[in-house]
Amino acid sequence: MVPGLNRVIEAFERQSLPIFLTRDWHPADHISFRSRGGIWPPHCIQGTPGAEFHPGLKVPPAAVIISKGTSRDAEAYSGFQGTDLEERLKSLGVGEIFLGGLTTDYCVRETTLDARKAGFSVTVMEDCTRAVDARPGDGDRALADMHGSGAKLVTSFEVVKQMASTQQ
Ligand SMILES: [Zn+2]
Repeated sequence: MVPGLNRVIEAFERQSLPIFLTRDWHPADHISFRSRGGIWPPHCIQGTPGAEFHPGLKVPPAAVIISKGTSRDAEAYSGFQGTDLEERLKSLGVGEIFLGGLTTDYCVRETTLDARKAGFSVTVMEDCTRAVDARPGDGDRALADMHGSGAKLVTSFEVVKQMASTQQ
C-alpha cells in the first residue's frame, strides 16, 4: 500500500494540494491496550519507533500531522475524533478527501464515516488500505459500509490518472 500512497502524495504535491497524515499517538498505558482491557497489543506509543510512519512512506515537509488517541482514557479510531482535523480541513476550503492507510476495518472506516458526517466528499483508495480481518470479511464489510455512506472506492492509479487529465 505504501507505493500507492506515495503515488497520490506526489500527485497532490505537484498540484500544491493539502496533505494530512493521521497517526495513532498513544500513551504507554492507553485504554485500547490489552493491559487495560482493550483489544489491541501495545502499539504506536508516543515517541517510540512503533509510532513512526512506515520508513518507505513519503512524508512531505508541508504535510500536516494529526495525532489521535493521545489521552490515556480515550480511544480514537477516526482521525476526526478528539482532533481539530475537521476545522483545519474546512479552514482550507477542502470539500473532498482522498483517503488511505491502516486499517480498512477500523481507522479508515471510522475516519471515512466521520468525514461523510462532516459533509466531505470521500474517495477511499482501495489499494492503499489493508484490513485486520479479525473476523473474516471485516475488511469487505467495512468497504461496503464506507460505500454505503456515499464514499467512492477507487484505486490510486485512477486518482493519479484523473488528476493528470485535469491538471492545468
Ligand atoms: Zn491505536
